[in-house]
Order: sequence, then C-alpha cells, then structure tokens
Amino acid sequence: MDKTELVILGGGIHGVGVAQAAAAAGYRVLLLEKSALAAGTSSRSSKLIHGGLRYLESGQFHLVRENLRERELLLQLAPELVHRTTFYIPLYQGSSRSPWMIRLGLWLYDLFAGLTKVPRSSRLAPAEWASLSGLQTRGLKAVFSYSDAQTDDAALTRAVMRSARQLGAVICCPASFTSAAIYDDHCVVNYRVGDSEKSVQCLAIVNAMGPWGFRMASRTTPPLPDYAYECIEGTHIECPGCGLTAAFYVESPSDRRGVFILPWGDRTLIGTTETPYYGHPDQLAPTQASIDYLQKIYQHYFPAHDTTVLDAWAGLRVLPKASSLPFNRPRETRIAVNDPNNPRFLSILGGKLTGYRLTAERVVQQLQKVLPKRTPIADTAQLRLEPSDD
Ligand SMILES: Cc1cc2nc3c(=O)[nH]c(=O)nc-3n(C[C@H](O)[C@H](O)[C@H](O)COP(=O)(O)OP(=O)(O)OC[C@H]3O[C@@H](n4cnc5c(N)ncnc54)[C@H](O)[C@@H]3O)c2cc1C
Repeated sequence: MDKTELVILGGGIHGVGVAQAAAAAGYRVLLLEKSALAAGTSSRSSKLIHGGLRYLESGQFHLVRENLRERELLLQLAPELVHRTTFYIPLYQGSSRSPWMIRLGLWLYDLFAGLTKVPRSSRLAPAEWASLSGLQTRGLKAVFSYSDAQTDDAALTRAVMRSARQLGAVICCPASFTSAAIYDDHCVVNYRVGDSEKSVQCLAIVNAMGPWGFRMASRTTPPLPDYAYECIEGTHIECPGCGLTAAFYVESPSDRRGVFILPWGDRTLIGTTETPYYGHPDQLAPTQASIDYLQKIYQHYFPAHDTTVLDAWAGLRVLPKASSLPFNRPRETRIAVNDPNNPRFLSILGGKLTGYRLTAERVVQQLQKVLPKRTPIADTAQLRLEPSDD
C-alpha cells in the first residue's frame, strides 16, 4: 500500500490551503479531488476578499478583524489575483439601517483594517450621486463608500495549489474518496480513480469536502458523528456589464437582506440568496425563484441597465443548524476532530474564502500532535501566489 503523511480530501480553497500549509511545514501531502480544483463552493462564492462588513451587526468582531488582516496580506501576496474595489452603500427613505449605523459600522471596519494602510470610508456629497453608474436616486438619502477586495475564487484556489505543489504536495484528480479507517497510530484512506479502487496509508486525514463532508458516519471506521450543520444555497446571476466599475451593497426591497451588485469582468454579478438546501450537493442548481429575486433587485436599483440574465449559478454555505435565519448565523470556521488527544481525522466546517490561510495554519497546528516534528521549509504568510493554468 502507498504511504504518505497527510491525506487531504477535497480541492476547494480549504483543501489546497491545508496542502500548502502542511507542505510548508515540511510534511508529505496527498490531496484527493473528485472532479476539478475549485469545482465546488470555491468557484461559486461572491468572490470577495473581505472582512464581512455585515458580520459587525451580529457582533462577530473577531472574525471581521481576522479576515481584514488576511485581506491585506492577500493583496500583498497575490497582486495579480486580488485587487481593491470601491464599494458603495446607498440608503433610501425606508432603508432599515440609518446613516449613523452605517457610519459607525464603517468606522469600525476602517479601524479593524488598520487606519493608515487602507483607503478610508466616507460619505458622498449629493452632487456625486449622478456619477454612480445609473444608481436609482429617487428617495436616496445618503451614499457611503468604503474599500474592500475582489478576486477570482477558482483562480485563487489554483494558485494556492500551485504553491503547494512547488513545496512538494501531490494532487490526485480526479480521485474520489470513498472511506477511511482510523487507528490509534495511523489511518487508511480508500478512494476511486476511474474504475480502480486504491488505498493509501497515512498518519492523519483532513476532510475539506465542504458541503460533501459533514455527514461522515457511514464513511469512517469507527463511525464519526454527523455534524449539526446544514447547507444554505446561495445563487448569483450574471447580467451585461453596463459600465459598472465599483461595487454596490444594497438592501433587498422585499426582505431587507443585503445583496451585492458587483463588477465582474465585462459583466455584472448579483448575489446572493440564502435558502436552506436539502438535496445532494451534486444536484444543486439555481432555482427560478432565486434568479427572479436577484433580477428584481438589480432592476430596482439600476432601472436603466440591461438586466438580461446571461448566466446563473449556485453554491452551498455550510452553516451550523439553528432556528435563526441563515443571514444571522455565525460564520466562524470550525475544525472538528475525531479525538482531541489523538486528532487523526479533522473536518473543516463552514468558513470563508478570505480566511483560508489562517484556517489551514490552525489545522496544521492541531496536526502537530500526531505528525512527527519537522523544520518548516516555508511560511505561507510570505509565499507569493501566482496565477496557474492547471
Ligand atoms: C454563495 C456563497 C458566497 C460566498 N461568498 C464568499 C465571499 O465573497 N468571500 C468569502 O471569503 N467567502 C465566501 N463564501 C464562503 C466560501 O466560498 C467557502 O467557505 C469556501 O469556498 C469553502 O471552501 P471548501 O474548500 O471548504 O469547500 P469546496 O470549495 O466546496 O470544496 C470541496 C471540494 O471537495 C470535493 N469533493 C467532494 N466530494 C469528494 C470526494 N468524495 N472525494 C474527493 N473530493 C471530493 C469537491 O469536488 C470540492 O472541490 C461564500 C459561500 C457561498 C456558498
């Protein structure tokens, strides 16, 4: 049987992040991905590298501060893949948030980002409203601007895997994980490549299968508990560009949720929805109701734009089960282990694209309990990320 030290299941941003961090820490790594890098959630996000302004409202200050630090780091490490974008928040008669609330939130956001480094948020003079790409000005009370960052999520994922490979990590794709056995001092991972069944022995396993990975009971020996998580669908639509160069964070007129209207290449990207999803992740597709909901928001705020839907796609957030609305649930990443004293099977639950590097470092730190001591060969906080054609 083949042997390695760490097997990672899933080639989304978390899987490749752990591959990079573990290889940088000096370990032998094999990553298994069943279809293609970033084939899952990591190509279906809103493509923002951000602190998550709205998480301030639910008091997730720690998460926002951490993600803002990671945003600044990624802007340095991946200048070809992550770029700053100006965001506007328009407030109308009847908006659920008041100007002082937005002002306070943006002040905190600036503060957490490090006041000196980042373009500061501000309130636009009414004379400037006319230059906002055709934004509806009827009933407009105030417009605030702030700075955040955008990326191509799939390209970022490929770039991190490229870095991991340069450090010695091996990827097997397409390769579909089928089951694992966890013993006191090692693990065995079984997977399928085409028609062949294969096995590899390792010291630890990281489950980074996102929406495919939180029900493991039937796939591991001994069976691990199913985690109390659920999938929440998020749809985006793509419309013609119409000259949009900045991003807008608007409130849905029907239910007051925050929705982004973003420049995306020569198109405009509008998202997202939040609907519980009970089907299999492989069968996910945007519903007509989600598409209509987003198109109506775009029409409402940009009445003169061409709002033809050119494309629509959906991704799945993995959120803790709760009775509260998905919008208000915690977005912290959880690392679940089979046994805190002997962590040989770690699952990454939830999380953000933006915080992937920090999550990966935390995973590798936990694995130190079962992996041999090594001298690191690199530091992920200093490794440049270059676009990759893989
Ligand atoms: C609608 C939406 C918008 C979002 N917007 C943002 C945003 O703007 N900014 C931000 O920071 N975060 C955002 N997020 C969160 C972020 O996108 C996710 O946290 C992140 O992409 C999750 O990555 P992952 O690696 O955990 O999972 P995934 O990207 O889903 O990767 C899991 C991988 O496992 C593979 N896999 C599945 N089964 C198997 C198997 N049996 N064997 C091998 N491989 C398998 C899949 O093919 C897939 O590639 C958003 C999420 C959603 C849903």
